[in-house]
Amino acid sequence: MNSKEPVTRKVIPIVPEEGYGPLLPEDSQGVMVSLYASHEKIYPRSVSGLFSNWRWATVFLTQLVFYGVPWLEWGQRQAVLFDLGTRRFYIFGLLLYPQDFIYLAGLLVISALSLFLFTAVAGRLWCGYACPQTVYTEIFLWIEKKVEGDRSARMRRDAQPWSFEKVTRKGAKHFLWLAVSLWTGFTFVGYFTPIKELGIEFLQLSMSSWEVFWTFFYGFATYGNAGFMREQVCKHMCPYARFQSAMFDKDTLVVTYDSERGEPRGARSRKADPVALNLGACVDCTLCVQVCPTGIDIRKGLQYECIGCGACADVCDTVMDKMGYARGLVKYTTENAMSQHWTKSQTWRHVLRPRVLVYTAILVAVVLAMLVSLTLRAPFKVDVVRDRGVMARIVSGGNIENVYRLQVMNATESLQRYKIAAMGLPGLQVKSENVVLVESTQSRWVTVRVQLPFDAATPGSHAIQFEIDSLDSSGHLTEKSVFLVPR
Ligand code: SF4
Ligand code: SF4
Repeated sequence: MNSKEPVTRKVIPIVPEEGYGPLLPEDSQGVMVSLYASHEKIYPRSVSGLFSNWRWATVFLTQLVFYGVPWLEWGQRQAVLFDLGTRRFYIFGLLLYPQDFIYLAGLLVISALSLFLFTAVAGRLWCGYACPQTVYTEIFLWIEKKVEGDRSARMRRDAQPWSFEKVTRKGAKHFLWLAVSLWTGFTFVGYFTPIKELGIEFLQLSMSSWEVFWTFFYGFATYGNAGFMREQVCKHMCPYARFQSAMFDKDTLVVTYDSERGEPRGARSRKADPVALNLGACVDCTLCVQVCPTGIDIRKGLQYECIGCGACADVCDTVMDKMGYARGLVKYTTENAMSQHWTKSQTWRHVLRPRVLVYTAILVAVVLAMLVSLTLRAPFKVDVVRDRGVMARIVSGGNIENVYRLQVMNATESLQRYKIAAMGLPGLQVKSENVVLVESTQSRWVTVRVQLPFDAATPGSHAIQFEIDSLDSSGHLTEKSVFLVPR
C-alpha cells in the first residue's frame, strides 16, 4: 500500500449492550473512537501593551476595593458589613434590612443591563478585564512568572524530572498561591463578620466553624480556579460563554485578525519586501497563540473560547513594530467594519447603534430610579400585623377596639422616637402609647390598640392607615390595614 494513502478505519459506535465496562472492537480491524480529549496544559506567555495595561489597571482597582473596603471604618463600626446574624446590612451611611431586598433586585438588574450593554459594544469586555476568574488568574500567573520564569522556562521545568530546584520553586509558588487564596477567603468572610475581630479570632485560633469553613472554601475555590482550572472555567463552566453569541451582532467590537492584510502568512526577514515575496503582514511567529490564556489561534476567526482579553492584539502590535509594519493586524473591530473597510470613526458611529443607545437609556433610568429611591427612603420601616387573638371587641365607654402589632425598625444609628396615629375612619384613635422609642439599628414590636366610637361605621371590614412619623429625623410612613366592626 502506498504510504501516503489515507488509512481506512472502521468506526465502532460506543454503545454498551450490557452493563458497563471496557468496549472492545467487533473485529481486529475496528478502531474505537473516543470523544474524550485529554486536557493540554496551557503556558501563556507574558505580554505588555495597551490592553494588558488596562487589564492590570482593573486588577489593581478591583482588588484595592475588594481587599481594602472591609478595613474601612464608618463611625464606630466597619463601613461595609453584611451582618447575617442580626440581619443588618451596613453600606457606609446606609443601613438596610432584609425588607430592603428591592435594592438588591435593583442591583442585579443594573448588573444584567451593564453586561448586555458592554457585550453589545465590545463583546466579552467583562471576561477579558474584570471577571474574578481573569483577575485572579492574572495575579497567579504573575506569581508563577516571578517564581518559575516565563513560558519557555516553565515548559522546560515541567518536562524535567523532579529535582531539588524544581521542588523548591514549585513549593514556593504554591505557598504564595495558597497565601493569596487564604487571604482572599479571609477577606470574603470579613464582609460578613467584623474583619478586625476575625483577625483577632484567627490569631487566637478561636474562629467559629462557619468562619473557618467559608475562609477555606472561598480560599480553595480561588486556588483551584486561578491556579489549575484557569481557561477551563471560561470554556466549560461559565454560562456566559454559552449565551454571549446571542448578544453579539455584526457591529460588536471583537478581537479580530485582519486576514485580508495578514494572508498569505509566512516567515521572512525584517528587510525582505513582503510584496515581492507575495506574503501578507503575518510573519507566522505564533506569538498570538502563545500569549492566549485560552490557547486558541485568533487567526482562525472568532471562537467561543476567546475571552476578548486583547493579549494577542498587544503582542501582534509589538511584532508589527519590530517588522516596521502598521499596527492593528489583530485588533478590536467589527465584522461590518472589516468587510466594508470602515475607518475608525465610521466603525464607532455604527457601534453606537440604536440597541446600544436603548440599553444605555434603560441603564441610566434604572440607576437614577435607584438613587432617588435610596435618597428619599424613610430611615425606618414598619410592618403592621393584626392581632389574630383579638379580632374586634366592645370596650368600656362603648367603643369598638381592634388590636394590632407593629414592628418598628430603626434604620439609623441613633435612638429614635416614632409617633403612631390611625386614620381612615371618623373618630379613629390610638388608645395605647402612641410614641415609641427604638434603640439605634434595632427593631421593636409594639401592641397598638385602636378604638372607634360605636355607630361611627357600619359592621364589616374598613380600610384604615397607620401614619408613623419620626420625631427625631425626617421621615413619614403610611401603612395600610383594616378595622373590623362587629355586627
Ligand atoms: S502575532 Fe501577529 S504576526 Fe505573529 S502569528 Fe500572530 S498574527 Fe501573525
Ligand atoms: S484570542 Fe486573543 S483576545 Fe481571545 S482570548 Fe486569546 S489572546 Fe485573548
